[in-house]
Amino acid sequence: MSLGESGMEAFQYTVLPARVLFGFGTIEKVADELVSLGRKRAFVLSDLHHATSAAARLMRALGEFGVQLSTDAVMHTPVEVTERVMEKLAACNADCIVALGGGSTIGLGKALALRTDLPQIVLPTTYAGSEATPVLGETRDGRKTTLRSLKVLPEVIVYDVELTYGLPPAISLVSGVNAIAHAVESLYAKDANPVTSSLAEQGIAALGRALPRIVSDPADRNARADALFGAWVCGSCLGAVGMSLHHKLCHVLGGAFGLPHAETHTVILPHAVAHNATGAPVAIGRVACALGADHAAQALFDLAVANGGPRSLREIGMSYSDLDGAAEAAVKSPYWNPRPVERNAIRALLDDAYNGRRPS
Ligand code: NAD
Repeated sequence: MSLGESGMEAFQYTVLPARVLFGFGTIEKVADELVSLGRKRAFVLSDLHHATSAAARLMRALGEFGVQLSTDAVMHTPVEVTERVMEKLAACNADCIVALGGGSTIGLGKALALRTDLPQIVLPTTYAGSEATPVLGETRDGRKTTLRSLKVLPEVIVYDVELTYGLPPAISLVSGVNAIAHAVESLYAKDANPVTSSLAEQGIAALGRALPRIVSDPADRNARADALFGAWVCGSCLGAVGMSLHHKLCHVLGGAFGLPHAETHTVILPHAVAHNATGAPVAIGRVACALGADHAAQALFDLAVANGGPRSLREIGMSYSDLDGAAEAAVKSPYWNPRPVERNAIRALLDDAYNGRRPS
C-alpha cells in the first residue's frame, strides 16, 4: 500500500545499536574506547597473519589494558577452537574482547561474546561486514549453523583504513564482492526498508568504484576508504534484513562442499542476480544504477573477471559431480526469495556458475 505522494510503502525497521569510529590511524583510540565502556582488561584476538604487525601494534596501543593476545582465529569458527580459547579467556579474567582481523577473527570474538556476554570492540581488516551484524556462524562436526543474537553484535567498531592497505588485491576484490552481495540481497529482501535500501545503493556504488582502483593500486588511500565505508554499510544491511537465494547457495557451497567463503560469493552473485531479475526487477534495476551499468548481473560478472577474480565454481574447487547435491540442498529448506526456488532452475544456475558463463 502506498503511504504518500512519493509512493512510500509501509515498513518496519529495527535499528541495531553500535558505536562506529571511522578514519586513518584510529587504532590509537582503542584504549579510550575501552575506558568509555568502563573496562580495563582486554582479551585481544587476531589471526596468525596479523600477529607480528597489526596485532602487536594494537597491544602497544592498549598498553596496560591489553592482558592477553590470542592468534587462534581460523575460518568458519569451529566450536573446538572457541572452547580452547574460552579457557584462555577465563584464565586471564578479561572484562572485554578486542578483535582485529577479518570475518574469521570477528567470528571468534562473537562466539566468545555469546558465551560470556562480554562487550566487544572490533577492528575489521577485510570487507566481509560481520562486525555490523548480530549473526554468528559456527562449525560443529563439519556442519555450519548460524544464529542471530544481540549478544554477538559488537558494541564498538573501529574502522582504521590503514589496516586494510596490506589486504592483497585478490582478497580485496572477493571480499568487496562479498560485501556487495549483502547489499544486493537487502534490496529485494522481504523486510527491505527505505533506510537499508538507500545504504545498500551507497555501499554498492562505493565498492563498485573502489575495487578496480584498489586492484591497480592497493595503497590508494581514497579507494581504501571508500571500500571500507562500503563494507560497513553493506554489513549493516546484512545485519538488519533477511537474506535470500544468493546467501543460501553460498552457505550450502561453503558449508557442505568446503568452498572458500568470499570467492564463492564472487562467482555466485551474478547468477543469483540474473535468476532473481524477473522476481525483483526494481531492486535489480537499483543495483545496475548503483554500478553505473545497464545490466546488473553482467556488470557484477565483469567487475570480478576484469579485476582478476574467479569466474567459475570449477576454478575454486567445486566438483561437477556435486552440482546435483548442491541443488537438492539449496531447495530443501530455502530462504525466502523474490522468485520461487525450483530445483531445475537452481541446477541450471549452478551449471552456469560452474562453467563461468557470463549471464545473458
Ligand atoms: P578471513 O577473516 O578468514 O580473512 C581472509 C584472509 O585474509 C586470512 O588469511 C587473513 O589472515 C587475511 N587478511 C585479513 N585481513 C588482512 C589484511 N588487512 N591484510 C592482509 N591479509 C589479511 O576472511 P573473511 O572473508 O574476512 O571472513 C570470512 C568469515 O567470516 C567466514 O567464516 C564467514 O562465514 C564469516 N562472515 C560472517 C558474517 C556474519 O555476519 N556473521 C558476515 C560475513 C562473513
